[in-house]
Amino acid sequence: MNIFVLNCGSSSLKFQIIDTDLERIENDEDLELARGIVERIGSQSVISFKATGSSPYKSALPLRDHTSALKFIIDWVTSPESNIPGINSLEDIHAIGHRTVHGGEKFKKSVRITDEVIKGIEDCIDLAPLHNPANLKGIYASRAKFGPGIPQVAIFDTAFHSTLPETAFLYGIPYQLYRRYKIRKYGFHGTSHRFIAHRYRKLTDTTRDNTNIITLHLGNGASICAIKEGNSVDTSMGFTPLEGLMMGTRCGDIDPTIIEFLMHKEGASIDEVMNILNKRSGVLGISGLTNDMRDLEEEVEMYNDRRARLALEMYANRVRKYLGAYMASINGCDAICFAGGIGENAVDLRKAMCANLSCFGIELDESLNKLATGGKEMMISSENSIIKVFVIPTNEELVMARDTARVLLNA
Ligand code: ADP
Repeated sequence: MNIFVLNCGSSSLKFQIIDTDLERIENDEDLELARGIVERIGSQSVISFKATGSSPYKSALPLRDHTSALKFIIDWVTSPESNIPGINSLEDIHAIGHRTVHGGEKFKKSVRITDEVIKGIEDCIDLAPLHNPANLKGIYASRAKFGPGIPQVAIFDTAFHSTLPETAFLYGIPYQLYRRYKIRKYGFHGTSHRFIAHRYRKLTDTTRDNTNIITLHLGNGASICAIKEGNSVDTSMGFTPLEGLMMGTRCGDIDPTIIEFLMHKEGASIDEVMNILNKRSGVLGISGLTNDMRDLEEEVEMYNDRRARLALEMYANRVRKYLGAYMASINGCDAICFAGGIGENAVDLRKAMCANLSCFGIELDESLNKLATGGKEMMISSENSIIKVFVIPTNEELVMARDTARVLLNA
């Protein structure tokens, strides 16, 4: 079945069309038919679409809201110019899978979207005030465009972490605050961590129960996940994606008192301080230059820039600290797996992240590490490494398409 996978952000809309069903899933034969993105919805939108095997379509025009962006996408998808095999009209799209950021404690797996599910996603808006409303816009716009009959499935970023034990998900604050407001660690990037673990099992012929690994999703946002016997038992993002690793522009773990201190010293509002911590911190804040690791590495190489180097070293150090902590929390592991734009490409940074870990039996093979860029799936540890190290390119859209098919085909 042709599944339209939608990832709706506050001002962007990403999609893929994937042909999959239970047999294709079983044989790893899912077919990507097209993908695309509309950015800057609400102003002059930037559009970039591509059908597999055809040349890309690029354009810029004003698209008012998510409904008009979705209409534009669907008009392109179903037009002869797009040249997508097997897709000529709306009827050729059989189902829609929606990335949904926050499922709270209610949604522990992907579900078919009903009015009750929509109400549940609305109930989680308090927990993800920027993300869930955008995801809901995608759901409403799809209903409007495809009609109420089209089957839709919600896939939650938080669901994979629903197995976290209380000892990992509670914060050391009064328990009543958890009871009253559900303040706890939820974790994010669950779809990605789940996919990485799935690929690890395939690559190493390991059963789910024997999967004891640490997965690292390192993109603009970044999180680590400790997986024991196939389940997520700890993860670095928390109540929101701000906790944990130092990221592109997010600070990660800090002493919460800094917020109060900054408000006093800078005469800043809580919104201004939170904006600093979310948008102007992390490697951008430390380097004062950029949140892009490629540019930072170039600055170090060409100009020996001190703060660019500092940002890279801090990034690697924070990752190492989490790796060590998770080793202790799950009594060691069989493998660590890198994914995300940084995890899949940043050769030198990967080496730095794995340095000082020989005490755990981790040893990289430098030449294999250098080879692992541009979407290659491979092992990069040496023969002697007790804990194996893998690079496993993530594919959240594939998980979403497969979940959509599975939910609808009741598998
Ligand atoms: P997102 O979280 O937005 O999905 P990605 O997973 O695409 O992000 O990761 C984007 C980041 O990956 C970039 O900001 C950049 O820092 C990093 N990156 C991509 N390619 C390279 C590379 N060749 N070397 C180092 N870093 C890279």
